[in-house]
Amino acid sequence: MTLLSELEQRLPADSIQSDTDVVDSYSRDRAVFEQSGTAAILAMPKTTEEVVAALAAATAAGVPVIPRGAGTGLTGAANAVDGCLMLSVHRMNQILDIDQTNRTAKVQPGVINSDLKKAVAEVGLFYPPDPASFEMSSIGGNVATNAGGLCCVKYGVTRDYVIGLEVVLADGRVMRTGRKTIKSTTGLDLTGLFVGSEGILGVITEITLKLVPAPPPPATAVAYFNELKPAGDAIAEIFRQGHEPSLMEIVDQASLRQVEAVYPMDLDVDAACLLLMQTTGEASDARIAAIADLCTEHGATFVYHVDDPAEGDMLIEVRRKVWPAFEQLGKALLPEDVAVPRERLAELLAGITLIGRRHAVTLPTIGHAGDGNMHPLLVFDGNDPDETSRAKAAFADIVALALELGGTIAGEHGVGTLKREFIELELDETQLAVQRSIRDLLDPNHLLNPGKAL
Ligand SMILES: Cc1cc2nc3c(=O)[nH]c(=O)nc-3n(C[C@H](O)[C@H](O)[C@H](O)COP(=O)(O)OP(=O)(O)OC[C@H]3O[C@@H](n4cnc5c(N)ncnc54)[C@H](O)[C@@H]3O)c2cc1C
Repeated sequence: MTLLSELEQRLPADSIQSDTDVVDSYSRDRAVFEQSGTAAILAMPKTTEEVVAALAAATAAGVPVIPRGAGTGLTGAANAVDGCLMLSVHRMNQILDIDQTNRTAKVQPGVINSDLKKAVAEVGLFYPPDPASFEMSSIGGNVATNAGGLCCVKYGVTRDYVIGLEVVLADGRVMRTGRKTIKSTTGLDLTGLFVGSEGILGVITEITLKLVPAPPPPATAVAYFNELKPAGDAIAEIFRQGHEPSLMEIVDQASLRQVEAVYPMDLDVDAACLLLMQTTGEASDARIAAIADLCTEHGATFVYHVDDPAEGDMLIEVRRKVWPAFEQLGKALLPEDVAVPRERLAELLAGITLIGRRHAVTLPTIGHAGDGNMHPLLVFDGNDPDETSRAKAAFADIVALALELGGTIAGEHGVGTLKREFIELELDETQLAVQRSIRDLLDPNHLLNPGKAL
C-alpha cells in the first residue's frame, strides 16, 4: 500500500495534505544552501495519538519521517529527504497548563516561543530562552535544537528549562520522561537526551518547562572599542570580577558600518566593535555602572549606561538591525555559529577577520559575547560559483579555528546537514560510537530524520 492510503486508514482527512505546493512549502528550513529532497506527503497531527498513527503509517509504507516545528532552523535539520513524510506539529499549539506554585508550564510542541513568554508574563513569570527567532520558532523546535539566545549568558539555554517530555518513539511507543517536581533522582536523564536531538530520537509531543519569576526591566550599557583585544579583555574581566550580565552582545566594525548605512543612527563606524550589555535584578543600575567602568578601564573609547528600559531597548536595537541591514544587499547570507571559551573570544574575532581577508569574502561578525558564541555572517553572491566556493572555504576555516581555540562547531543552531561533515572533528570516536548506538537502539531503521545530526 502507498503512504497516502496508509495515512488515510489511520488519520482524519484534515490531518493529511498531499497538495504538492503545500507539501513543498513545509519541506525546508531557513538554511540557505542545504539540499532539500521532495517530500511525498505532509501530516499535520493535532494529538499525540495522531503522531503515533502517522509514524505507524510511515513504518508500514517504509518511508522516512521528518519532524518539523516552525521551520526556522538554520542547518537543514528539518529539510525533506526524497519520498519522506513531513510531520509538522504546528497544529499542536496549546499551552496546557501554567502552574504558579511549582513555576512550570506544560505545552504542546507547536506553541510559538513568544506566545508562551506572553502567557507566563501575565502571571508574573518568565520563560527565559530567547532565540532571535522567538516570534516564529516553536518550543518543540527550540527543545530539539537546544536553542540559545540573547539572555543565555545569565539564564542558560533551553536545556536548563526542560524538566519533562512526552515523546513518540520510532516504533510508536509513547514515553514520558522527567518530572513535574523541581527535584528527582529517579533513573537516567532521558529528558536531557532528547534536548538537542534534532528529531532523530523521537517526536516530542509535550514539554514541561521550568519558569522563573519575571525580573524587573534591565539597565543597559554600551561601549565602543578601537581594537578587539581590549574588548575581549574587558569581557573576561567582567566575569572574573563576578558580574552577571543578563545580555552581552558584540557588533563588529563591518556590521556597524552596514547598520549605519541602512539605518543611520550616529554609530561610530571607525570603532573596531561595540559591546552591548544589560543587567537585571537587584541593584542592576549599580551593577551596570560597575561593568561600564571596567570597559573604560580596559580602553573603551566611549561608554554610556542608562537605567531607562525604553532607552536601553533603543540601544539594543543596533544588534537586532544587523541581519536586516545586510539583507538589503540582496546577497546570500550564511550565518556561522561557533563558540569558544570567553577568554579566547578576541582571538576568535581576530582570526575571523583574517579568514575573511584570506578568502576575499565579506565577513561581518555579531554574537553573544558573554557566551563566547559568535555568528560570523558570510555575505556573498550565491549565483557566483567562485564567490560561493570561497565563502564555503571560509566557513570551514572558521569551524577549524573555533576547535583550535578549544571551542565547539555548533554553539546554538545545531548540526543538521550543514555541520555534519565536521562532527568528527569535535566528537571523539568513542563518543560518536556511543551516540550512534543510542540512535540505533531507539530507531534501528533510521525512520526519523535520516542523514541529519550524527
Ligand atoms: C532570524 C532567525 C534568528 C535565529 N536566531 C536564533 C538564536 O538566536 N538562537 C538559536 O538558538 N537559534 C536561532 N535561530 C534558529 C532557529 O530559530 C532555532 O534553531 C529554533 O529552535 C528552531 O525552531 P523551529 O520550531 O523553527 O524548528 P524547525 O526548524 O522546524 O526544526 C528544527 C529541528 O528540530 C526538529 N524538531 C522540530 N520539532 C520537533 C518535535 N516536535 N519533535 C522532534 N523534533 C522536532 C526538526 O526535525 C529539526 O531537526 C534563528 C533562526 C532565524 C531564522
